[in-house]
Amino acid sequence: MATGNPGKAAEIADLLTPYNVVVRRLGEFTDAIPEETGATFAANAVIKAKAAAAVSGLPALADDSGLAVAALDGAPGIHSARWAEEAGGFPEAMARLNARLQGNADDQAAFHCALALAWPDGTIRTVQGTVEGRLVFPPRGALGFGYDPIFVPVGERRTFGEMDPVEKADRSHRADAFRKLVAACFRT
Ligand code: IMP
Repeated sequence: MATGNPGKAAEIADLLTPYNVVVRRLGEFTDAIPEETGATFAANAVIKAKAAAAVSGLPALADDSGLAVAALDGAPGIHSARWAEEAGGFPEAMARLNARLQGNADDQAAFHCALALAWPDGTIRTVQGTVEGRLVFPPRGALGFGYDPIFVPVGERRTFGEMDPVEKADRSHRADAFRKLVAACFRT
């Protein structure tokens, strides 16, 4: 699993549970994290998956994901993690988003997830998932990770931060992408 993000790692491990897969973490093989130089979620997922397959000699699954805010022309998008780093953490990043959206009636947003599965022989499959929703402030709920406390998926009143992992997995961009990955690559 080509991620050092504990929130993503936990969700992907849960999604993999039914498939009899032994999950090895990237940290068991290397501390090096490849630079995400791609212009899209898919390109960055491919960079991470290829690097992890090369260093581990095993099939490697990478996730690149983020929050796209309509009123900000899709920002922070592929820079979602960097935004939080630069802001000093997720509470600060969410406060910064709130400040940027003051006076804007458009609360639409979406989470996107690209999953790339790379084999050591160079074979690669990429899938993408999305969940549409809206942003709410102040943040609500301590479950999930990242921007979950400000995101309410379509058809819900609660934020992802207020849903337990099973409920989030029913609706999330990551689960959407994972269903497509299973259909494309897994024998069930
Ligand atoms: P990446 O490691 O460049 O893919 O960073 C993705 C970033 O997007 C994460 O650090 C979070 O900030 C955000 N993100 C992705 N998926 C989720 C999610 O399911 N909930 C909340 N935030 C997410």
